[in-house]
Amino acid sequence: MIRSIYDYVEAQAVEYDSLALDIWEHPEKSGEEARSSAVHRDRLASSGFAIREFPEMAYSFSAEKGRGGPVIAIMGEYDALPGMSQACSAAREALVPGGAGHACGHNLLGIGSLAAAEALAAALEGAGLPGTVRYYGCPAEEALGRIPLVKAGRFDDADAALTWHPADVNTPHRYATSANVAMTFRFRGRASHAAMAPHAGRSALDGVQLFNLGLEFLREHVERGVLIHYVVSDGGARPNIVPENAATTLYLRAPTAEALRLAAARVVKAAKGAAMMTETKASWEITHGKCDFIPSDAIHDRVARAMLELPPPAPSAEEASFAKALAATVPRRDREATLAMIGAPLGLLKRAVHAEAGDFGAGYRIGGSLDTGDVSYIVPTGQLNAATWPLGIGAHTWQSCAASGSSLALKRMRWAAALLAETGLALATEPGLLEAAKREHSGKSRPYRSTMDL
Ligand SMILES: [Zn+2]
Repeated sequence: MIRSIYDYVEAQAVEYDSLALDIWEHPEKSGEEARSSAVHRDRLASSGFAIREFPEMAYSFSAEKGRGGPVIAIMGEYDALPGMSQACSAAREALVPGGAGHACGHNLLGIGSLAAAEALAAALEGAGLPGTVRYYGCPAEEALGRIPLVKAGRFDDADAALTWHPADVNTPHRYATSANVAMTFRFRGRASHAAMAPHAGRSALDGVQLFNLGLEFLREHVERGVLIHYVVSDGGARPNIVPENAATTLYLRAPTAEALRLAAARVVKAAKGAAMMTETKASWEITHGKCDFIPSDAIHDRVARAMLELPPPAPSAEEASFAKALAATVPRRDREATLAMIGAPLGLLKRAVHAEAGDFGAGYRIGGSLDTGDVSYIVPTGQLNAATWPLGIGAHTWQSCAASGSSLALKRMRWAAALLAETGLALATEPGLLEAAKREHSGKSRPYRSTMDL
């Protein structure tokens, strides 16, 4: 079936490519995706999908087509990153100095998933089969993410969820991700003249510094996989004023949401201790948080099979030389990092573009976090990576932004769309597959509680 699905996607290549390029040319940051969301909604509405906007998050929506069960969720994203504006060129060259850019390839992610939803709906309809395809427009992935949608129960009646991500390798997303929480700790002291009456002041900055020092000692005695990174987000105004207010903003990550809760409780103790030492008051708030990703082996096995049946389209000579030039802007040693963290062979770096179907990451867990993690606590969830960028190029770089506007990326986006649609079709029609995915999920998953509710 995968060939006819791919043919369906390829027949509309011009339209899908121009939509993805349109989003790339009009990057919108998290929470500002009015235009990008509308582009997706308009297209899906014109393809006969029923649109429903969600009140929980600006610019979030679902688009549904089909009849009866199962309900296959396909997730798309469309936010860009600040300061990453970049031309489709092999040298650092901002299109808009200081402007946003699609350095995480979400222009491809949103439209690739949209193409998958359309192809899957057409396949079910064409065969007269029951099943509902539901596209989720998920804004602000780079910030809050789809957590409010998950918390509001928007995924509760889905039977399985699928998505993909632009990357440097082709592989099912077999690796787990870390749970995280972003917290701001504010210290409040008493202002005073730093030279005339230092004894009368209580420095909030002292509270921040002792708190940060506490974190440095704490990091030696936490569970493996716990990561703490912070910035001083408020350090006071002037040296001659004892700071009344100061703050640390930190990200805390851990292998699971449960391990994260235990680590967060100790971080809070460090803040309380620092406040006591400095006679200041500490308060904290959580701005966002994501659960770890629980990979579905049943779905990823099916993705791997689809990748073997439909190998990735090869780059043209021109695309290969662009990729080579982009790859050459990053030292070879640094390019190993993206492969090593998911166990992909470093020998792949002999070439600029990943040409084969890979199968990496089983048993690995990366330090980064994804909002797909929360969805994976609710329903069996599968993802895949498609090599839209040169090997060894990481996300959130100007190189990944440049690559996301290239013809190779569009080609690989359409390939990823066919793989997702094929996997969705298999879940809806192949006997036993969805049941196996659900059985595996009920054995592996843990009760869902957002890490924003520590
Ligand atoms: Zn991303």
